[in-house]
Order: sequence, then C-alpha cells, then structure tokens
Amino acid sequence: MRDFIFKLYFADEREHFELGKKNRPEKKSFPMMESLLSFLDLDVMEDDAHFREMEEALQEYRGTRNKKALALIRARLDALAGKHIFYRALRLDWLDRIERAADAPDADTFDRIAWPKELRQTPSRLYAAQRHIEDLFENILLYGSGRERIRDRAARYFADKKQHARVIDYYAFGQIMTVSESVSSSAFTDVLYADSIFDVLDYYVRECIMEEYPARRCKNCGRWFILTGHNGLEYCSRPLDEKGNTCRDIGAGLLWEKKSRSDKPFMAYRKEYKKRFARIKAGRITEAQFHEWGERARAKKQECDAGIITLDEFIEWLEIS
Ligand SMILES: [Zn+2]
Repeated sequence: MRDFIFKLYFADEREHFELGKKNRPEKKSFPMMESLLSFLDLDVMEDDAHFREMEEALQEYRGTRNKKALALIRARLDALAGKHIFYRALRLDWLDRIERAADAPDADTFDRIAWPKELRQTPSRLYAAQRHIEDLFENILLYGSGRERIRDRAARYFADKKQHARVIDYYAFGQIMTVSESVSSSAFTDVLYADSIFDVLDYYVRECIMEEYPARRCKNCGRWFILTGHNGLEYCSRPLDEKGNTCRDIGAGLLWEKKSRSDKPFMAYRKEYKKRFARIKAGRITEAQFHEWGERARAKKQECDAGIITLDEFIEWLEIS
C-alpha cells in the first residue's frame, strides 16, 4: 500500500492537487490548465544527463543493493520535483518502485517493478508527449476551426491516426484510475490518483477534450494557451517580466518586439531540436548522437543568452553543428 499520493481534480475553473503523505497531503491549486501549459514550455531534455545518472545508479543498486546508490537517485528526483509540479508524480512513482524492488528475489522481478532503462527513457518519452499534445492543440482544440464539437474532431483525428500513423507518432492514452468524489461541499467530480507522470498528462488531455476547452496560440509569445470561458482573448497570461506583467496585460503593446527578440534563441533552438528529433525516428542519427548534440546546443544557447555570441552566430552554429 502506498503511503504517498498524487491526487488531482478540476473544480471551480481551477486545477487542484493534493500531494505527499496520504494522511497529511499538501494542497495546491492553480488557474485551470496552468500546469499543463507550463509543462509544455519545459525543456524536458535539459535533465537528460541526470536521468542517465539515475539509470546507472539504479543498475548498480539492482546488482549490489548498495543503498549509497539510492542517495543519488533521491537527490535527482528531489531536484526535479522542485522544477515542476508534474515531476512530483514522477518522484513519488520512482521512490515507491525502488522501495518495492528492494525485496525482489531476482533481477527479472526487479526489472518488472523498477526497470532502470525505463527511467533513462523518461525524458524522451516526455518530450514526445509534449509534441503530441501540441499536435492535439493544433488539430483538435484549435479555436475557431468551425462549429464541430471538440470531441467529434477528436474522434475523427484518432480514427485517422490509427489507420495511417504509427502508434509512436501520436498521443496514446494509457489506463488511469479515477474515483468520483465530493471534493468540497459544492463540487462532486472525478478525481485522479496518479501512479505516474504520464497518468497526469492523460488526465489533462482527457479534460481538455471532454470539457471542450479550445486552445490558441498567444499573439504575443506564440505559445499555446487554453480559453477557459472568455473566447475573445488573443493573449496568454504568462508573466513577461519581473513586475508580473503578462502577455494579456501588454496586449499588442510596445513590449512585443523586445519580448519576441529575447525569445528568438529559444525558438531557433526548439526548431532545430524538433528537426533532429525527427532524424532519430527516421534512423538517420542515433539517440546518443542526438543527446550529445542537445547538450552542446544548450551550452551554445546559454552563450547566446549571455551575449557571448550573437543570435546570428547561434543560428549559424545550429545549422552547421
Ligand atoms: Zn503569451
């Protein structure tokens, strides 16, 4: 029986989390869909090297049961959990698995519970999920694409994908456990008890489709946001500066140019990144080559952000690297 929970539900136009110890969970709540959107903005491959270290440590633990190896895994999971609330599901999942795997009588049983390679593959799987969710935004949730209901568009989209695309090329739902609960004296709703970070993503995607939330790209920063009620909005509510001004506050105002300039290195990096990610699938480069390139590209981007090299130099480097 797990002592820890990751509970999630949507009510009163907000997302609600209850996390941590089952008998005394920490409660958090954010505006609707905020966590999903910030997750899409996250550079999940940034921590790729850490996942590799965790895999190695778990391999070592699997062979030796040396508890020292676990300290590194715990530290890395803690660091991730501080980065984004979804990573807290990942952390609880793996802490639980490692604890259960401790008593495994042989390597096969250990792997069934806590397969080290699965940990290693997590960033790539999350990266793919991010792109697949963006694809759903583009093709199913996009605001203003006719009168058809979102769930009817979803039916067509998935039927078509099942016929024409490979399973890894589109968002694939898993099985999740939800329970209907009275979450407050005014809200009775479905509640997710997540076993993994992928359960959390599933639950959000399902909510977007079933509750018909249209999405659009922000006219200022170009990133996706969800329309929750005010369908006329063209700007997202992501903070733009230290003062807490958002794209919505600034609208089409003066900061547009400045902001779009400062985001250009990220956009250039993201574009090249997608191109190269596709090359793995096409078999033109190996995953190892891709990761190695990713590390160098992020280091270069930092140089660009810091003004050591110009944007043009960075773009040129991306093209020839
Ligand atoms: Zn924006």
